[in-house]
Amino acid sequence: METFQSAPRAVRHDTRIVSMLAAAIALAVFLIDALTPLDIAIAVLYVVVVLLIASTGNRTATVATAWGCVILTLVGFILSHDENVSGGALARCAVSLLAIGTTAVLSLRIQATTMQRKRMEAELQRQRDALKRSEAFLLDAQRLSLTGSIATRLPAGTMWWSDEAYRIFDYPRDMTPSIDAILARSHPDDIAIVRGAHEAALSSVRDIDVEHRLLLPDGTVKHVHYVAHRASSENDGGEYVGALMDVTETKLAQEALARSTAELAHVTRVTMLGELAASIAHEVTQPMAAIVTSGGAALRWLNRAQPDIAEAQQSIAQMVRDAKRASEVIARIRAMARKRDSQPATLEVTEIVGETIELVRRELARHRVDVRADLATPSPTVRCDRVQLQQVLINLMMNAAQAMSAVNGPRVLRVATRESDSDPGYAQIVVQDSGTGISDENARRLFDAFFTTKAEGMGMGLSICRSIIEAHGGRIWAESPDEGGARLLFVLPENERRDDEQ
Ligand code: ADP
Repeated sequence: METFQSAPRAVRHDTRIVSMLAAAIALAVFLIDALTPLDIAIAVLYVVVVLLIASTGNRTATVATAWGCVILTLVGFILSHDENVSGGALARCAVSLLAIGTTAVLSLRIQATTMQRKRMEAELQRQRDALKRSEAFLLDAQRLSLTGSIATRLPAGTMWWSDEAYRIFDYPRDMTPSIDAILARSHPDDIAIVRGAHEAALSSVRDIDVEHRLLLPDGTVKHVHYVAHRASSENDGGEYVGALMDVTETKLAQEALARSTAELAHVTRVTMLGELAASIAHEVTQPMAAIVTSGGAALRWLNRAQPDIAEAQQSIAQMVRDAKRASEVIARIRAMARKRDSQPATLEVTEIVGETIELVRRELARHRVDVRADLATPSPTVRCDRVQLQQVLINLMMNAAQAMSAVNGPRVLRVATRESDSDPGYAQIVVQDSGTGISDENARRLFDAFFTTKAEGMGMGLSICRSIIEAHGGRIWAESPDEGGARLLFVLPENERRDDEQ
């Protein structure tokens, strides 16, 4: 603060001394010029006066001083000469005036240049300060967002990393950045991804966007997302400017979320199986009863006085068929109850829908629901986890049955599979009921977690359906048909098409 205030005061002080000195010299020159008969161009010394005033940097004062010196020169000349003015005296006066004028003009020019230089220096300083400030902001932003910058010059491969990039890679600041240094920190299983990105850059790809893991010397695994853009348009590789984001936290959160979603899907599946107990029991007891009947028949054919082996064989074959059916049902139920990771397989949609209708048929019958299936043949095939697809279908059908149990009219459940008109290359599955329907207000929240209008509802069914369908590259939505009730539709990418595309 003090230096700020004292500086202009010191400058003012200097200016005053210089002005006083200039005035003294001017007076001395004037007196000598006017009162002494010297035959020299003493008035030339006014140049010193002009230079002194010009040194203060004051333009107006310099101009005024120059004019003042011109006047003093002329007055001095008049006072020191009578009417017989010699040619030499006139020449000396002219030289003095010329010297004063030239000095004034040159001084003004120097002043103008100095001022311009000062202005430029001030502007440069302002820009330097702004740059420093934005660099500081950038560093802060990079540290907070865990994002580093990487610039790469190709084909030489010269690199520049920001502080945060060094921190992410866990290298000391004095290390020379290079692709080898990045490879040394890359997770062994992801080295191919990093090499691939580098080769893409070498072949002048415009944008690079990769996610991979780093394995640091202390064993820490980091997930990073690198996006880069080709900054220059030269054909010999050019420069890539990129951002390296440490997305470990996000990745771990996503994995935890996926795990919780899978757990929840499993729990709701098991709950659903509990709700379907009657249906399942029927599915299993029916073939069991048939086995008992066929077994009895086989025994009777064998216990005859003349055992009828052919008939007995037929009954036994029937028993084997029924036993297989029962074990298939049990295998399906076990698959649904088992906790396991998603296992996508190529599935015929129609087959899965048909199988699922059979699984819930008893439950639907209990609600006095009339099922009408309109299944496309040949069936569209999709790549999907079988159990998860069944879970979605059971959920939609059970919701439909519950919505219809509240109405008195006909209870019709229509299930259709077809090629989607709205989404070409997708298989569409429609589950439509004649139940209460969905109000506009509820339609917006239908797929939200914990949204339910049922006293015993958990509100997770449709939310899980949506995550399953979206995880398989599809989408699910609800419509309100003109004839009333609700229509739930979902689409999944068709398998053939995906194969064609590859
Ligand atoms: P829950 O069945 O536990 O309520 P869901 O996520 O399966 O959870 O369903 C959420 C809500 O969506 C239901 O409570 C119901 O209000 C509404 N809903 C779902 N399917 C239908 C349908 N077919 N008809 C009318 N409303 C439905």
